[in-house]
Amino acid sequence: MKLTELIENPQVSFDYCIKCTICNTVCPVSSVFPYFPGPKYLGPDSERYRLQNRFPVEDVSAFCMNCKRCEEICPSDVQITHFIEEDKFRQKKTFRKKLRSLFFIYIDLVGKLASSVSILTNIVLKLGIVRLVMEWFLAIEKKRRLPEYNSGTFLSYFRKNYRPPEKPAMTVHFFHGCNINYNQKSLGVDFLKFCHRHNIEVKIPPQKCCGIPIASAGDAEAYRKRVDYHFPIFWDILRKGDIITGVSSSCIMAINTDYLRHIPLDEENKERYHKGIVYFNDLLEIMEKNGIPLKIEKKYKRLIYHVPCHVKYSTQQAKTIALLRRLTDNLVILDEYCCGIAGSYGMKKENYIISQNIGSQLFQQINSHLAEGDGLLVSDCETCRMQIAENTKKKIYHPLELIENKIPE
Ligand code: SF4
Ligand code: SF4
Repeated sequence: MKLTELIENPQVSFDYCIKCTICNTVCPVSSVFPYFPGPKYLGPDSERYRLQNRFPVEDVSAFCMNCKRCEEICPSDVQITHFIEEDKFRQKKTFRKKLRSLFFIYIDLVGKLASSVSILTNIVLKLGIVRLVMEWFLAIEKKRRLPEYNSGTFLSYFRKNYRPPEKPAMTVHFFHGCNINYNQKSLGVDFLKFCHRHNIEVKIPPQKCCGIPIASAGDAEAYRKRVDYHFPIFWDILRKGDIITGVSSSCIMAINTDYLRHIPLDEENKERYHKGIVYFNDLLEIMEKNGIPLKIEKKYKRLIYHVPCHVKYSTQQAKTIALLRRLTDNLVILDEYCCGIAGSYGMKKENYIISQNIGSQLFQQINSHLAEGDGLLVSDCETCRMQIAENTKKKIYHPLELIENKIPE
């Protein structure tokens, strides 16, 4: 069975489980939290009983961080996280969790307001009393450092400043996501610079948050509405033969793979949809195939790369490594440990300790590599970067920032 068929009919996939238990061995949550029964039990083992309504909904599935390491390693392509996500959707929510879910549903509105008064927002979000109130009402852990807001959104910057090339070699539609729009405008500006240097036109389709935090909060209806909002916009672009791209590895995975379970297309068109939405690495490949030579200089002495779980799952790991080898002759690859944050997961009060315990081995590993000598930290995922920066006190970059700037080592 093809992957897209399994994603479309995930219920079928539990029958393909061969009970090898390898998924349990890679689960970061199981390794630090003994009450979490692991992907095999929560996924395929329990599904038979759920289908017969003979099984209570497992509240413990809320502790799954949706890293997808279990699915990435499963030899039978069992759609483990689909079963766990459906379990999360069925769970009863407390008042605080409902409020928190609303916060994630309206995260674009929050982002627009916060970035319009960014200086004030960034001061207020550091006040202990504000964090205490956020913890009471939204169950967002007060110790977790929150991302700072841009002054103005990336989208408003784009509207004011962007001029397309006169005769572009190709056009791309940029899914900037929340991080670039509200918190890391400079990365979006780097993307525009990169495209400008390669004579590529950038268009920005209407968009909201991809929906990962909404799914993670267990709000099925709001998540499906989010998919329904994006799907006609994306499909309109893709069926004309254009591509959608982005530099946020998890957002791109969400819209090109997770959405497949919910969009009304036949098998063939799902394949077309999946292949038309590409992460930055795939954009580079498409550019080379279209005869656009890549202007990337080898300019760093040493880079230390943390591979995000979703990059592994999306089979992008080797491509990012190949890209980083264009930037340095000395690349250290940290591919063993999860950083523990998984987007909004590690911000939630009930997950904070688990998140920190999962990440601790990675932080130690990074610190010992840094103690050996110079080197810049790099990772594709914005929340991995946030977690690593918070816990190692070192700045960490997206590969595109290293390409477009000369960062001092
Ligand atoms: S890795 Fe896949 S096949 Fe093996 S136990 Fe887990 S779900 Fe079953
Ligand atoms: S998605 Fe990650 S946390 Fe969830 S069960 Fe699989 S390996 Fe464990």
